[in-house]
Amino acid sequence: MALIVQKYGGTSVANPERIRNVARRVARYKAMGHQVVVVVSAMSGETNRLIGLAKEIMPDPDPRELDVMVSTGEQVTIGMTALALMELGIKAKSYTGTQVKILTDNAFNKARILNIDEHNLKSDLADGYVCVVAGFQGVDANGNITTLGRGGSDTTGVALAAALGADECQIYTDVDGVYTTDPRLVPEARRLDKITFEEMLELASQGSKVLQIRSVEFAGKYKVKLRVLSSFDEDGDGTLITFEEDSKDDSMEEPIISGIAFNRDEAKITILGVPDKPGIAYQILGPVADANIDVDMIIQNVGADGTTDFTFTVHKNEMNKALSLLRDKVQGHIQAREINGDDKIAKVSVVGVGMRSHVGIASQMFRTLAEEGINIQMISTSEIKIAVVIDEKYMELAVRVLHKAFELEAK
Ligand code: ASP
Ligand code: MG
Repeated sequence: MALIVQKYGGTSVANPERIRNVARRVARYKAMGHQVVVVVSAMSGETNRLIGLAKEIMPDPDPRELDVMVSTGEQVTIGMTALALMELGIKAKSYTGTQVKILTDNAFNKARILNIDEHNLKSDLADGYVCVVAGFQGVDANGNITTLGRGGSDTTGVALAAALGADECQIYTDVDGVYTTDPRLVPEARRLDKITFEEMLELASQGSKVLQIRSVEFAGKYKVKLRVLSSFDEDGDGTLITFEEDSKDDSMEEPIISGIAFNRDEAKITILGVPDKPGIAYQILGPVADANIDVDMIIQNVGADGTTDFTFTVHKNEMNKALSLLRDKVQGHIQAREINGDDKIAKVSVVGVGMRSHVGIASQMFRTLAEEGINIQMISTSEIKIAVVIDEKYMELAVRVLHKAFELEAK
């Protein structure tokens, strides 16, 4: 007997028939003798609908009230899923985040889980119940409803699995696993049987949307065995997310590159002619950080005239905020020549733990892009990743040629 947490995303619970389908799968696991905790998202489109309603009343909705509203999506699906299980003769009970007591901090719309009270769930499981828990939501110390950020149900699933000491956390979605890249862009993309946490983390942070990045961080930290599967496919094994140590003993040669991620979510801000002196990077990025704007890539280069060009990327939605924040500082005490923003960029990253032991990956990547005449605007690397910023209009081409160059389609 195992304890399994199964998380079902919005498309898996999009209508009553699909919810019945979820219940049938849960029933099969129960019949095998397992204990099951189910975490569900809202029906697909519902969270967006609720946010839209809030914005019709207040363009920039009050964060506390927004959480009160958007958390209702999941409250509907836990009830429906519990009913569907009962209809199959299975004992089931739904739980909101407050009812479990998924305690979070009070950062509305992007709260972090601080603690999970697993007591009630454990005793229900022991009594033979399937517990159906609302994803995405929690409660702060003052009893306010909070939500965990878009896609946050993944994090609920993983956090519950960690708190309950589950044997596996299964994430059911509309794709049957993690692919070498998005199959909608590259039809030859291949499903990976397994991938390491580190690679998954890089892919998620570089734009792969399969799992919410925080859920992957959480799973890595608490060593939760994570599997991504399709809820529309009866018997696929999906993709297992492993720890590098555990997958070492495989006799098969591991591929050097596991996947290619991309995103169009970032914008580039460049400050030209910055005096090259200590403290400049802090003077530029300090105010940006104080305004809670995330900075991703940063480059700085001293030119022949002794001044520096300073470039960094932020989320597209925050480009204008960052620009207006810095504009008078640039002219003022920073004493730089000019500042400008460009949101017509894309980031493309190749990821693989094999980079640690193989040289020449970067040069192969750059050669491949050069052969297509694609100009690289920025580069950043980690031990297992090389990311480039390019003109947005070449993104698809870049992903396709890199996928081919690194032979990701062939096994
Ligand atoms: N329903 C929430 C969203 O759409 C949470 C989730 O689906 O994971 O972002
Ligand atoms: Mg999701």
